[in-house]
Amino acid sequence: MKLSVQKYEMEKEIRLPRHTVWKLLSDTDHLNRVIGLFPVEPGQAAHTRSELTSLMNAKAAGIVPILWTEYPFEWQIEERYAVLRIYSKGPLARFYAGVEMRDSSNVLPDGANATMVRLFAHVTPANLIGMLSLPLMTRQSMNKTFKYFSDYQKLLLAGIQRRPQPESQYRVNLPEADRLLFQLEMMPVEQSCVPLLKDRIIYHGDDEVVDMRPYGIADEWNVSRVDVLRLFLYATKIGLLNLSWHLICPNCRVSKYSAESLSLIKEQFHCDFCGINYNLQFDKYVELCFSVHPNIRKANAQVYCIGGPAITPHVFAQCYVEKGKDGVIDCGYYDESVRIRVLKYNHIVNIHTEREAQQESFPGPGERVHLHYDEQGWDTNEVVLPASGSALHIHNAAERDIVVALEKADWDDMVVTAAKVSTMYEFRGMFSSEVLAPGTQIGVESLTFLFSDLLGSTIFYETVGDARAYGQVRRHFDFMEQWIHKSQGTIVKTMGDAVMAIFETPENALQAAIDIQTHVDEFNQGSSNDDRIVIKIGLHHGAAIAVNSNDKIDYFGQTVNIASRIQSLSKGGDIVLSKETSLRVGMKDLLERSRAQVARFDATVKGIDQSLGLIRVLVK
Ligand SMILES: [Zn+2]
Repeated sequence: MKLSVQKYEMEKEIRLPRHTVWKLLSDTDHLNRVIGLFPVEPGQAAHTRSELTSLMNAKAAGIVPILWTEYPFEWQIEERYAVLRIYSKGPLARFYAGVEMRDSSNVLPDGANATMVRLFAHVTPANLIGMLSLPLMTRQSMNKTFKYFSDYQKLLLAGIQRRPQPESQYRVNLPEADRLLFQLEMMPVEQSCVPLLKDRIIYHGDDEVVDMRPYGIADEWNVSRVDVLRLFLYATKIGLLNLSWHLICPNCRVSKYSAESLSLIKEQFHCDFCGINYNLQFDKYVELCFSVHPNIRKANAQVYCIGGPAITPHVFAQCYVEKGKDGVIDCGYYDESVRIRVLKYNHIVNIHTEREAQQESFPGPGERVHLHYDEQGWDTNEVVLPASGSALHIHNAAERDIVVALEKADWDDMVVTAAKVSTMYEFRGMFSSEVLAPGTQIGVESLTFLFSDLLGSTIFYETVGDARAYGQVRRHFDFMEQWIHKSQGTIVKTMGDAVMAIFETPENALQAAIDIQTHVDEFNQGSSNDDRIVIKIGLHHGAAIAVNSNDKIDYFGQTVNIASRIQSLSKGGDIVLSKETSLRVGMKDLLERSRAQVARFDATVKGIDQSLGLIRVLVK
């Protein structure tokens, strides 16, 4: 019996702006949990590169086995998404469904337009059960999706910062959670975040307490990102949360592998989807996430949807183009660099946006820019993006179907990388066991090193005697540490009287250096002339190699060598850094604000062929 397609649709006005509606609907994994769909499992990994679909299986209502081929989601951010599923087992044969949204003419109190949301489903049953159960099932799902919005609005009105959550009793060990939260309040964390963390642990679905990304949550809570990261580190220390490390594929930018400890991470990893081996980079591909500790709550990270737009939020539009056919991507206004990429093959066209292009040189609204794709890749490396309202027209002349993404070119700043967290003294202090496996070397693209030493320390030891000198040197380490921590840096090690510290940015390092040199007089107050210390400081930033050295993370490489050599050019009381580093906008601002005197000079240092352009900074 050949059954015919059944078409359903439902449209309603939602009194929320379009970007909020998109945020709620595009997280299909969360939505599917809330509206009571079933968890899914990959049937078989896609091994060949041309394979764009995934084989999936699930049990409908917990009993009826279903098996299907899932095509990649197609979407246009804040406008529409859809997915196609072809079934080989179960009551359905074919399922094509999605959402569309547009501005409603009604205006909300805050001035934004309300949103018209249209849900649609074109479903072909495979048998009589499918045919008979479809009308009710589909309507129920659609009604529940609209209820999701009204529930969200109710929470909003009640002042609760939470999306609607799945209906389930989360078994939380409340007495233990309360005890630990009380402990957490005693710690140097942002107090206003503690009740928010408690709310999350008790009332949020499993997907929101497993693999939590602190920066994303900070944005949700509207608090500083460093505060949430610090909160999570302390919460992990006391056993409220657990941490895990995720390796992110640089192409699909999705976590491919996770480990409970940095020491389990290998230097290389493979993305099955892209079919490529990667060398790890600490500051891009290793992400720190947090989950609720199983002693507090056993959260199950089951998957409810594998391909919704929220999984790759850096992709603004995704389009499936069959071989020999055409595809169209509508263009919006992008205030960041964007590019076109063919999934898996990574053929890229860089896009010059409206913002960068000369006003007269970009195509106007309604115009199309044509891109041609074949076995060799694209016919061009770059295009000027049409103004918003126009479109990119793609012709696929290759012998295979392709998936084309219009995506953000730059790496996501939402990621708490291993490089970032290892510059935090809280992390190094509390998680000293979190080191790389012996012998592992992982690259870091950008880190700032601060080296310091005491001027004339040999004479110092001779004049005041070892014991007194040692006491003064120890006190000076505490002094250094205080200012380094204030700028979110950390001391990697001390060598004799010298300090090696790291910072995420040159601005933070310079701020610490300025603080140190401005406050050294206070440090020396009350000391006799013999006891007074003079500090030499050098800064440098760039790539380095992270390694495990005596169970601590240490750094090696040319940047580290140069930083140490630059320090030796300091005369004491000053700060030396490369001219190049000082040209960064943030650095210039900082130098101006601190009313520093800046003098340029060139110098050659051991181990580097060409002479270095440097600046000497005096803050007093
Ligand atoms: Zn990949």
